[in-house]
Amino acid sequence: MKQHGNHTMSYCKMLATLICVPALFACSDATTEPANKADASAAMKDVASKNIENKAAEDSIRADITKGSSDMTSGVDYHSFSNPDEIRVTHLALDLSANFDTQQLSGSVTLKVERTDPQHNELILDTRALKIDTVTVNGEAVPFTLGETDVDLGTPLSISLPENANQVTVNYATSPSASGVQWLTPAQTAGKQHPFLFTQAQAVHARSFIPLQDSPQVRVTYEATIKTPPSLLAVMSAANDPQTERDGEYTFTMPQPIPSYLIALAIGDLQFKAMGERTGVYAEPALLESAAKEFEDTEAMLEVTEETYGPYQWDRYDLLILPPSFPFGGMENPRLSFITPTVIAGDKSLVSLIAHELAHSWSGNTVTNATWRDLWLNEGFTTYLTYRIMEMIYGHERFKKEAVLGYQDLQNDIAALEQNDEILAIDLRGRNPDDVFSNIPYEKGALFLREIEQKVGRENFDAFLMQYFEDFAFKSITTDTFIDYLDETLLKQYPEKLDAERIQQWIFEPGIPEGAPKPESDAFTKIDDTRSAWLSGDVKAADIETAQWTVHEWLYFLNNMPESLTDKQLTALDTAFSLTATQNNEIAHSWLMIAVANEYKPAYERLYSYLVSIGRNKLVKPLYRSLSQTPEGKAFAKKAFEEAKPGYHPLTIRANEGFVN
Ligand SMILES: [Zn+2]
Repeated sequence: MKQHGNHTMSYCKMLATLICVPALFACSDATTEPANKADASAAMKDVASKNIENKAAEDSIRADITKGSSDMTSGVDYHSFSNPDEIRVTHLALDLSANFDTQQLSGSVTLKVERTDPQHNELILDTRALKIDTVTVNGEAVPFTLGETDVDLGTPLSISLPENANQVTVNYATSPSASGVQWLTPAQTAGKQHPFLFTQAQAVHARSFIPLQDSPQVRVTYEATIKTPPSLLAVMSAANDPQTERDGEYTFTMPQPIPSYLIALAIGDLQFKAMGERTGVYAEPALLESAAKEFEDTEAMLEVTEETYGPYQWDRYDLLILPPSFPFGGMENPRLSFITPTVIAGDKSLVSLIAHELAHSWSGNTVTNATWRDLWLNEGFTTYLTYRIMEMIYGHERFKKEAVLGYQDLQNDIAALEQNDEILAIDLRGRNPDDVFSNIPYEKGALFLREIEQKVGRENFDAFLMQYFEDFAFKSITTDTFIDYLDETLLKQYPEKLDAERIQQWIFEPGIPEGAPKPESDAFTKIDDTRSAWLSGDVKAADIETAQWTVHEWLYFLNNMPESLTDKQLTALDTAFSLTATQNNEIAHSWLMIAVANEYKPAYERLYSYLVSIGRNKLVKPLYRSLSQTPEGKAFAKKAFEEAKPGYHPLTIRANEGFVN
């Protein structure tokens, strides 16, 4: 997922900034009542004792390597109630109808299972706020119980399977407030005519729209039939047919096994435009042409990534452009990444988001983190690949600039986070797994890999990564598996260049190890000089030569301004560069942050329309937070917020309402 960035990524940055609002991700809509409380608590005890058994067994194996977390068990998913070690779900068949009036998905899922332990007949699934109607095997009802609800993890569903049964059907409906499903009214879309639906399953939200084993170490293939109002098109993280007839009933297959957090569905007034042989865009008609133009390099990105890291394993790679209210940057749903429209800048300046989501096709979707503790295996590798893809397509200078901006994001997080949250292999026990999303797994993970690259040489490291993606294709692995693999490969090949202790330090200790690579950009050094010269009055704003500046120069120029500027200085900047009128959402964000900090009123009309038209939390939240510092600012924020609210995602509402009330 992306998150921050140069700053496009959003989910992670957003979540990083959300750490001060813990209630945001606490699911308060758990409506599921246990059918039988005694059975439920017995089931819970089973889950707990299973985890303890696993923990004891695993600890004895892993105690020597899980340094810094010796009481935590590598590979145990503390965020799922399910029991894949006994019975494992291998395939899902979904049959769901989308009702926009009641805001519910309803129908059934049929789960194919394999008994890992032949003695076991009790299948445990994860659910959250689902209404379970019946559970059947070959049409016959079978007993089931719902356990106690955990605020972060939802409710375990235990099903007693007949001996030898290898599939089971659950008939159910979602809650209108399902944490993983967003229902948009026509007013919340670009076209304003039709409603829209999208799901966001990472980290543990798939269970709010499908009862399943919601753990990244359980991979499933799936098929689906989705019924919608006839004027709308459904798309999924599966094989999509761009030519499909628009008739309100759509079928999908996903033949490659994927973890549950990559199951995704969107429904809306969508059209398709091809960008290359294997790449295309789905978007509302109003956004289709501009998106296809902005992201036209996607096919080239796909090709260079294949050349460097091995074959693309997923057939097509398409993008789905979400409405402006999409609260995140992007989500790497396989074959069909979900993308915010706020990165359509008209000059491809923010397309590192596309490189990021594409890179996940290798790191994340093909080789997957086994638990959320191991998220850095997804995001650190993906961030490293993103920089490399951007360099291959747009050159070394752009790479250096984006690396500096990413490094500044990382520094800002390290200044703000608790030490425990600066560790790549983070201890998330007892926490909401969404807490893991900060720049640590992304930028620190990428920096670690860049250090290894610099030590062993780029060509050798690329060869290593290509082999890694092949060796672990369609597997979910832990941090410790990666360390063992590194021991057997690069550490053996280059004992004089790599050091096991330093690798432990990178993975299990807070902060950035001394001597780590520090990205630098000559272009930015010049920007520092220019800024200083302007601040000291040696150069007039109108005389600064900006014709060659890209978005990156602008962001670096603005983001590193002193906290306080005079009205005269602000007017000079605005007059010289028309910053208040910029059409680039990232530059506008940086400028508006300065305007709010200095109460520069000529920018406030733009500020208002910015807040009302964009729902991407990474862009609006810092503005609301800054406005809330003064009574006048707060009143302004409240007015904008009330007008914007019908267009905001509930997560954006919950993240910001504290600032205006
Ligand atoms: Zn990502």
